[in-house]
Amino acid sequence: MTPNQAYEALKSFQIDTAYYQSLGALAGWDQRTYIPHRGHAHRARQFAALARLLHARRTDPRITEWLDAVEGSDLVADSESPEAANVREWRRDYERAVRVPDDLAVALAQAQSEGESAWESLREADDWAGFRPYLKRVLQLTREYAEAVGYETEPYDALLEDYEPGERAARLQELFADLGRATRELLDRIRSASVRPPVEVLHRSYPVAVQSEVAHEVTALLGYDLESGRIDPTAHPFELSVGPGDVRITTRFYPDYFNAAFFGSVHEAGHAMYEQGLPAEHWGTPMGQAVSMGVHESQSRMWENLVGRSLGFWRFYYPRLQPRFEALADVTLEDFHRAVNAVQPSLIRVEADEVTYNLHILIRFELELALFRGELEVDDLPDAWNEKYREHLGVTPTSFKDGVMQDVHWSGGMFGYFPSYTLGNVYAAQLFEAARRDLGELEEAFARGEFAPLLEWLRARIHRQGRRLPPRRLIERATGRAPSPAPLVRYLNERFGALYHL
Ligand code: ZN
Repeated sequence: MTPNQAYEALKSFQIDTAYYQSLGALAGWDQRTYIPHRGHAHRARQFAALARLLHARRTDPRITEWLDAVEGSDLVADSESPEAANVREWRRDYERAVRVPDDLAVALAQAQSEGESAWESLREADDWAGFRPYLKRVLQLTREYAEAVGYETEPYDALLEDYEPGERAARLQELFADLGRATRELLDRIRSASVRPPVEVLHRSYPVAVQSEVAHEVTALLGYDLESGRIDPTAHPFELSVGPGDVRITTRFYPDYFNAAFFGSVHEAGHAMYEQGLPAEHWGTPMGQAVSMGVHESQSRMWENLVGRSLGFWRFYYPRLQPRFEALADVTLEDFHRAVNAVQPSLIRVEADEVTYNLHILIRFELELALFRGELEVDDLPDAWNEKYREHLGVTPTSFKDGVMQDVHWSGGMFGYFPSYTLGNVYAAQLFEAARRDLGELEEAFARGEFAPLLEWLRARIHRQGRRLPPRRLIERATGRAPSPAPLVRYLNERFGALYHL
């Protein structure tokens, strides 16, 4: 078999795997939107059968034979060619998949799905004692998983690799230390400011039908292609990519709260625009895939916050929004802009403002690291959680539900995922700063309703690159600098300094 033949055989095998996987994605969208209540048991069996099929394909020994025949050949001589990038990433994915013993993979998948469904009901009941055994089980299996896939320095690095390839716990500790310090300084200045954003205006009556119209209009305005997508209501908003021409988002509507559906839709549309911008000709191969969760989150956070909460954006869009809601008749542009940017330390991560958000992530990161360094056990987690909330945010949970049990991630074994959110904010600010250098004052363009230049800039530097480069190098290539929290700190100080007259 020539290297070219091996490459073509491997590619067509992997694309078929991707087709099966995308059918699973479609079934997942249905499960989270319109499935009849009695359909869940059958759907769970479908997923189990599909998981077995996918695991067998990802660990198929022919993969390594094909890779052996291609690696080192002329076909992959240029390390940044699509062929070389695909072969490098296929090798990485294969090696990680085969290191996990079948029985561990099965036990972990089962503990994750049991943990998630237990969390749903036990969180509602505020039942930490009932939840604790599920968490212990999934943590134990995740520790075994980290040992199985391996690491250079510490087990947590093995977990990070699933979400942010190449990221390391030690480097994240430095990043969070710098960002945490700068954030608490800014927060202190905001606390002593005399400006009080009129947040009450966001809690007036906002008819859901009009909110839905607005969600479609604003996401299309920013560049989400609704001919290749759709927006549906759900309890927990998400973006889901079926394939080229089919990238969907969901959102959550409250009749008496503006922010959730509006900024939620823009956030998910940011994810969707990344997926819609991936090169369709490489679909089903690493070159056609998103590079990391952190980079994914940088796209959603950029459109939600750096664009969607900017004064430039609202100078253009507020005159279009205001006449649609009676609630806004007496609200000026300036007051509305201040309200959607209000900073208020709180207990709940998903409701957090831009300034305090990273402190919620810092807390989770420190606790996860302690769990995986053997410095903390599940029994002591609630106390450690509450202590950190007091220390970093000055608030104390009065229930498990609003404390240690608030997020689904740990119940599903997603340890190592949280840092992606902050990396997303860090990358977003750095990308935005570089785009501004290249394109001029973006807020003025936003005020004229021009968003395509920013989207095109991201398309060329991020979206169309797929997994050609590892995430940090991708950001460095796009911005000319190594990833750093400095642009995020500058941006937060600038925006909130102006809003709070600091
Ligand atoms: Zn997101």
